Amino acid sequence: MQQELLPELLCSIANTYGTPLYVYNADKITAQFRNLQSSFANSNTRFFYASKALTNINILKHILSIGCSIDCSSVNEAHLAIHVGFKPENILYTSNGIDFSEIEEAVSLGININIDSLSNLEKFGKKYGHSYPVGIRLRPNIMAGGNLKISTGHSNSKFGIPIEQLNEILDLVQQNQIFIRGLHIHTGSEIKDVSVFMKVAEVFFDLVPHFPELEFLDLGGGFKVAYKNNDHITDINLLGNEIEKFLKGLESKHQRKFQCWFEPGKYLVSEAGYLITKVNVLKTSNNTVFAGVNSGLNHLIRPMMYDAYHRIANISNTKGDIKTYTVTGNICETDTFGTDRSLNEVREGDYLAIYNAGAYGFEMSSNYNARYKPAEVIVVDGKASLIRKRDEFADLLRNQIAVL
Ligand SMILES: *Cc1c(COP(=O)(O)O)cnc(C)c1O
Repeated sequence: MQQELLPELLCSIANTYGTPLYVYNADKITAQFRNLQSSFANSNTRFFYASKALTNINILKHILSIGCSIDCSSVNEAHLAIHVGFKPENILYTSNGIDFSEIEEAVSLGININIDSLSNLEKFGKKYGHSYPVGIRLRPNIMAGGNLKISTGHSNSKFGIPIEQLNEILDLVQQNQIFIRGLHIHTGSEIKDVSVFMKVAEVFFDLVPHFPELEFLDLGGGFKVAYKNNDHITDINLLGNEIEKFLKGLESKHQRKFQCWFEPGKYLVSEAGYLITKVNVLKTSNNTVFAGVNSGLNHLIRPMMYDAYHRIANISNTKGDIKTYTVTGNICETDTFGTDRSLNEVREGDYLAIYNAGAYGFEMSSNYNARYKPAEVIVVDGKASLIRKRDEFADLLRNQIAVL
């Protein structure tokens, strides 16, 4: 298995398909999934790929082919999952702030559902009673995650039913005989510390007695991957061991069997993705050399939105002298991919690769500044295939209605 695509291959793919270009390495996704499976080999665990990270149907098909289940944050993602062949029982739907009709649609698909609010839980109970097993998403009031924008479990968060409303939940369950099959807590993204997951497990430990029909405990996603050398990442092996102990303790206390569910997004696809850009202009000002590339926050918004660090390398001049550059996009506002980066000498026309671009890269892209969204390519067994055409002018006009 080839876990990292090397500069030479990335350059030849860029020559073939043009830039800016997203390239995904299927082997890396497989390797990440196998790593999860081996780390959790001794505990009854299921993994659902959080597809909002990257929904190209070829990525979804690859996820299906390696035996991973799928988590959807909207009913349309669930339709995409069904489109590529996922069975309803392997699809999980965890949304928030939605109209009840979307939950009804999810029920008609027969997929697993986590409900996020008391009002939808009540509507669900009134309509389906005990007939459709369901999970509930709870808000544990735990602060975790790489930054506030991706932190979802704290006491001011919109996500989940606040845990202090347990009595209201139990009343609704009782009145409508709701079949609570699972509990769900996702505290956020980029959770470095295994102890955060184990705090969630403790919350579950205390809740289990209230829900006699419980089968799964869903700890969400948020495994942290390395964005730079020596980055602190989630210790998946340690987590696997801790979850094994947790499940054993829970089962011996309650004499019932439980399954743990996880919803990794970034962990599976982040490192598999590369955004290849071309240097349009070099501009020197004071002590800074700007390398202006043919992409921007319209294609990869994480640096500007989350202050995220993405490693950048000059893949077309790998032997050049190391110099310092600030890599900027071409969008008409501050648009910086990386400040003061050490890169092999950059010349106009060079390709710069931005790493860890698989998760929340293309998926969060837009046509801002009326620029085209990039093309996408997948590499399977060393062979590259185009999986999405670059936008063209007609795409900018699609759905617009000329009335003037
Ligand atoms: C976004 C999200 C995930 C995935 O988060 P990652 O950081 O990509 O692993 C999992 N579950 C839910 C409910 C989410 O909203």
